[in-house]
Amino acid sequence: MKTLGELIRPGFIREIGLAPSTGGRRPVMYSIPRIGMHDLSNNILFKVETHELILEDNADCLRELTNLIKAFISDSGIGISKILGVGIGMPGFIDVVKGVNYSYLHIEGNSLVSYVGNELNLPVYIDNDSSLIALAELRFGAARHTKNSMVLNMSWGVGLGMVLDDKIFRGHNGFAGEFSHIPLFANGKLCSCGKQGCLETEASLTVIIEKAIQGIADGKLTKLKGLSIIHLDQSIETFLAAVNHGDKFATELLSSAAYTIGRGVAILIHILNPEVIIISGRGSLAGKVLQAPIQHALNEHCIPRLAANTIIRVSELGMNAQLLGAAALVMENFALDENPEPGNRTEPAYLN
Ligand SMILES: [Zn+2]
Repeated sequence: MKTLGELIRPGFIREIGLAPSTGGRRPVMYSIPRIGMHDLSNNILFKVETHELILEDNADCLRELTNLIKAFISDSGIGISKILGVGIGMPGFIDVVKGVNYSYLHIEGNSLVSYVGNELNLPVYIDNDSSLIALAELRFGAARHTKNSMVLNMSWGVGLGMVLDDKIFRGHNGFAGEFSHIPLFANGKLCSCGKQGCLETEASLTVIIEKAIQGIADGKLTKLKGLSIIHLDQSIETFLAAVNHGDKFATELLSSAAYTIGRGVAILIHILNPEVIIISGRGSLAGKVLQAPIQHALNEHCIPRLAANTIIRVSELGMNAQLLGAAALVMENFALDENPEPGNRTEPAYLN
C-alpha cells in the first residue's frame, strides 16, 4: 500500500505550433512537448525536458511522444510503482471524458489516453491546455482564494480557462472556453478554425509575429530580427524579450493585440461577472504591457458598474503553469478515485 508521501506525480505538457491564421503559407507543423515530474510538495523532481516533434506527415508522432515519456521516466531513476499518473495538457478540441483530442494525435481504433496509458502502464489524464493553466492558477496562482475567475492563456491562440464557483468549468464535453474563436471582426481573415474574423485573427501571438515580420520587411524601426513563423516558439521568445526591453514597435504591436483581447474580455465580464481576469500563458511574460490596454478596452466597452467589480492580474507562474496544471490534474483524479462519494471527497494533500 502506497502512502501519499511515496507517490510521485509527473506532469506532461505539449505545446503545438499552429498554422498561421491568415491562410496562405502553411508551415511545417511541429510540437514542443515539455515533460516534467513533480512530487506531492510541488517540487520539480527531475529537470524539465523539451523536445521538438514533427506533426505533419508523421504517423508515428504519438508513438515517438510516448517513447519520450518512457525515456524521461527511465532517466529519472524513479520506479514506475512510485508514479501516481501522467497528466497531459494540449491544445485542440478535447473530450476529457473519452480521453480523445479531436484536433491532434489521432490513433486508429483507440483513444489517446488508452494508448499512452497501456504503453506506460500508468493512469493517464488529458485536458485542454487552457483549462490546465486555469487549474494551476486556481490551486497555486493568481486565482487562489477566488471563486470566479477567467484565465487567459495568451499563446499561439488566445485560450481561456474558466473557474466558476471554485471549479474548472469545461462545459458539456470539455469544449467550453473557445475564446479565440469569438467572431469579433469583419476583417475577412481566415482563422485556423476555418471561420473568418475570429479574435485570434487579430490578437494571438502567432498573428503578432506575422505582423512583426511584415513590419520589419516594411522597414519599421526596431531591433527585432530573425523572426520566423516556422520557428514560432523561438520567435515568440525573441518578441517578448524585445517588449520587455522596451522596443517601441514590438510594444505597440502587443498593446494593440491586448486592446483587442480586452474587447473579448468585456463580453466575458458582461456574461459571467468574474471577480478576476488573469493574464497567463506565455504572454504573461510581458503581462504588465498587456494589462493597461486590456483595462483601456474595458473602460470603453464594459458597463462601468460591472467592470468595477473585476480586477486584472498577471500570473506569476509563467511557463510553469501548464506543468503545474498537468500535475494537479493527476492529483485531482487521484483524489476522486480514492474518495468517489461526494461526502468522502477530501482536498488533496498538496493543497494544504
Ligand atoms: Zn476561429
